[in-house]
Amino acid sequence: MKLIVASLLLFIGTFYGFGQDIKEFPDLKLEINTAAEETNLQPEEAIETIDIKDEHWNTRRFNPYTDALVKFPLHLKFEEQDYASPLLNDLVITSRFGWRHGRPHKGIDIDLHTGDEVVSILDGIVRFASYNSGHGKTVIVRHFNGLETTYAHLSAYSVKVNDTVQRGQILGKGGATGNARGSHLHLITSYKGIAINPEYLFDFSDDHEIRSSELWVTRRWTDPYHHSSRKRSKLELLLSKEEAIASLDKEKKIYIVKRGDTLSHISRRNNVSIRSICVANNIKTTSLLKVGQKLVLEL
Ligand SMILES: [Zn+2]
Repeated sequence: MKLIVASLLLFIGTFYGFGQDIKEFPDLKLEINTAAEETNLQPEEAIETIDIKDEHWNTRRFNPYTDALVKFPLHLKFEEQDYASPLLNDLVITSRFGWRHGRPHKGIDIDLHTGDEVVSILDGIVRFASYNSGHGKTVIVRHFNGLETTYAHLSAYSVKVNDTVQRGQILGKGGATGNARGSHLHLITSYKGIAINPEYLFDFSDDHEIRSSELWVTRRWTDPYHHSSRKRSKLELLLSKEEAIASLDKEKKIYIVKRGDTLSHISRRNNVSIRSICVANNIKTTSLLKVGQKLVLEL
């Protein structure tokens, strides 16, 4: 009985809490931060010796991590200082990680001609090499730090699952399979199934540098809503756990407009100026708010 009541409370809490002001639930916020600290108490060596095929190694599923518990900030380490360019030609980014036409775009699009060779940007093991609706012919490589890179819309495969690949090794040929308008590479970088803005990890200029040997990733860098597919996001690397936790605290909040809300009401209740709400959301003070509309609040 206790269990049923607890589940019910959790359900109501989850449902009611969606879109609500987090400040009304100070306990909830505290819990998230505590949990984030706990994940990183493991000794450094534990990360180095992880067998990447040990957990969630599924060669048939695009994302085998749907039931994985992931806590922020994510912690990524890189042995290398640079990565191999996924294409032999110069990289021309046509669309970035971010909000696009009212939908999330969780990778970056790199221009190519059908038949161009696509290579693995780091050493790793091929976890998936199959057709996926939307992504078309897709190769996913899991790297030795747990990061996965996904290469979508390919026209041909050069590898099969469980193949060990070297940085720079050809994975297949580019194309426009799946839901692609024109040939391009849709490149996703993800950790435990959570897509990270690739530009937070990799510098896509000619030097092909990895941003840092150690990086902490907050929700901001995994949520397309905070980025635009049309422009580069301002980069503020989080190089220590302390920085990342401090950043998690002050990150922007998504507010979902409720019935009867007005800009001044939202502004007062969240301690954010009306001007700041308008600038962050590209709306006017006179704009009509719709129930269910998402507003970014820069806290
Ligand atoms: Zn794309």
